[in-house]
Amino acid sequence: MRKKLIAANWKMYKTPDQTLDFFRDFLPLVANHDRDEIVVCPPDIDLCAATEAVKGSNVAIGAQNLYWEKEGAYTGEVSPGMLLAVGCTHVIIGHSERRQYFGETDDMVNFKLKAALEAGLTPIVCVGEVLEEREAGLTEDVLRRQCLRAFHAVSGKKAGKLVVAYEPVWAIGTGKTATPQLAAESHSLIRGEAAKAFGQEFADNLRILYGGSVKPENAKALMAEEEIDGALVGGASLDPKSFAAIVKY
Ligand code: PEP
Repeated sequence: MRKKLIAANWKMYKTPDQTLDFFRDFLPLVANHDRDEIVVCPPDIDLCAATEAVKGSNVAIGAQNLYWEKEGAYTGEVSPGMLLAVGCTHVIIGHSERRQYFGETDDMVNFKLKAALEAGLTPIVCVGEVLEEREAGLTEDVLRRQCLRAFHAVSGKKAGKLVVAYEPVWAIGTGKTATPQLAAESHSLIRGEAAKAFGQEFADNLRILYGGSVKPENAKALMAEEEIDGALVGGASLDPKSFAAIVKY
């Protein structure tokens, strides 16, 4: 049985004070909830406030990005060690907004994945096709390429904590959600790629999250799919009640 993981991606929203307000309201709503793992990924500027706020709770904190070097002259970047030092345990890698707006390539995703695993962080690697690719029948090719390149030269032994998020880009922030069946098909394909890269046993235990307009109203149906091992939630994770409702689907 794979324990489901429900992760919040706050993107570029909330200040440290707003982060504290969120957890003051959110933590009581999910207290004692241990059916699923809960992770919140705020902007870097809020990480200290967030890790302090969740101490002793059932909520873990992740970053939305990292750089693969340990330290150096890399203005604006944050290393895996820095994330660990402020109490982060998870990190999102290769989100479509980073690929789209910040030129992140499959190779960069691979470097970041290796650095996160090396540091002992749990990476949440995002893959997914854009609308034109889906309409052109290229979804499988795109997912295969993204997985192959992301997993390159990562051994099954080292990939232990890996989590993958399938996020069809046309469903992110658009209100359009993939049907549970359509998401499950892509998840199977991703699991197949993980089996090729890391072995069948690893793939059987790999958690693959769905992301793309997950809301309290559709979470239950998505989570009912055996292939869907949790959710990566953007917009609907900013409000404590709405995110708690998704966690408790
Ligand atoms: C995301 O940012 O990963 C995401 C899935 O966003 P939304 O839930 O707003 O579509």
